[in-house]
Amino acid sequence: MSKIATLDEFFGSESGKDYSESKDTTSSLDKQFYWTGHPFVDAGLTAILLITNKEKPEELTEEDIKKAIEFVSKLYVKDDWVKRLSRIFRNNNPILMVNPSMKDKRTPTKLRESLNTLFRLIPSENESGAKCAICGRRRKISGFELRKAIHSKDKSKPKEITGDVFPLLGTGDVRNFFHSANPLGADICAYCLFLVQFMPLAVYYMGRMLIIHTFPYERMLDIHEEAIKYVELSGIASNAREFKRPENFFFKKVIEISRKIESGYRYWSNTSAVIYHFINGNRSGEQTVEIIYIPNSILRFIAFAGEESESWKKILNMGWNIKKKRKKLSFEELEKGYTNEVYRKLLNYESILPYFYNKRERNVNSSWRLLKFYCVEVLGLNEETLEFIKDVGDRIVETIEKLPNNQLRRTVRELENANKLWEFESFFVRVEKIRQNKKLPNALLTFDEFARLLTAYGEDINVSWKTVRDLLLFRIYEKLHDRLSGVEEESEEEEEFEFYRGEEE
Ligand SMILES: [Zn+2]
Repeated sequence: MSKIATLDEFFGSESGKDYSESKDTTSSLDKQFYWTGHPFVDAGLTAILLITNKEKPEELTEEDIKKAIEFVSKLYVKDDWVKRLSRIFRNNNPILMVNPSMKDKRTPTKLRESLNTLFRLIPSENESGAKCAICGRRRKISGFELRKAIHSKDKSKPKEITGDVFPLLGTGDVRNFFHSANPLGADICAYCLFLVQFMPLAVYYMGRMLIIHTFPYERMLDIHEEAIKYVELSGIASNAREFKRPENFFFKKVIEISRKIESGYRYWSNTSAVIYHFINGNRSGEQTVEIIYIPNSILRFIAFAGEESESWKKILNMGWNIKKKRKKLSFEELEKGYTNEVYRKLLNYESILPYFYNKRERNVNSSWRLLKFYCVEVLGLNEETLEFIKDVGDRIVETIEKLPNNQLRRTVRELENANKLWEFESFFVRVEKIRQNKKLPNALLTFDEFARLLTAYGEDINVSWKTVRDLLLFRIYEKLHDRLSGVEEESEEEEEFEFYRGEEE
């Protein structure tokens, strides 16, 4: 540590600050830690909290920071980590000495010194100056200070905060866009810059890098714990259990986390998440980020669906984007390797109702309970509407079950094939006629109900008549599956795989 003091003396103590370490190393920090709302900075903080077994940023002590610095200093000098870091920090990060030209200098001691210096450069919150564009609480770090952290007197580098030391920023060499309108780099403070150096520990490496940022921020600890534990145990970065798609992995984790805790899916109440799937490589075209927003309703639905895992598997099994060899693969293999239309539609705010039943087998994939949760919480249907549709479905069942099997199937097929509103309407007329023929008491629908069902919902995104059709089919399959799936079916051949044809393209 004395080396650093010497360096500080060498550079001169700018503004007379005392960079020496606090004597009482267990005391909590005068530089209090906090969440920032920035995915990469918060991921770095998450890593430090997990390494030190702390839950809240304000609980971090100087001793904890020392421990975290010690941990990465040993890790980041390993060849496979250098390779990974070069995909996050554009191959040139002088703080972490990522550049191949720095290979000889790259030792745990040097790395520890850099990070220690950077940490001690964190200014107090009341220091004046241009504020950090990320946390807004501390003044930005200057190029002069940055050079101090990397023990360089070369004024040409680093310019300021660029993509070399902070992921996905520009290079500063060409006219880049920086929020702060500073052509040399982004205005970022030493606190945020320090934390982002720890971000690679929390990353799941799936070709590109995966970070899941949540609100409330504390949820990140549960989501990224697996990555940190993996590094702690093996020294190697987690490859997200070989998952290829970030949403598949994240949804799997959501279900696993919910299962572990008593509150179950309620754990995700008032929580939202954003997936960042990115690469910040050195070669052109390699700087890219895919951002996937996961609204609260979807999070809660996925967690809830995990409680009905057999149903949820059946639903997902209708959506895998794979044409051949599908039958040879297990659910786990499909989940790891392929995109799923159910996920895609959910994240695109499209209805997944048709996946709740299997048109080919005329069977349902889930309980009414799961369907109800989806309709109410995700589609925004009100419960009373849902009960009304369910009731109409029961009345239809009560009517058509009086028919012999072949007529029953033909009638249901009419509803299945209703793709225009008038076709949907004529289905009701047909059922009404059956009702009269079979002398069932009361009409199928009152005039008001008929009007409500067919016109009130119209083309409303949430409750269009197509939603009603899908719900009615669900109810009919649920109640009459045994009779509908009977053997003799005149045109079974033609209709088989009808659903898959549409979805597998
Ligand atoms: Zn900041």
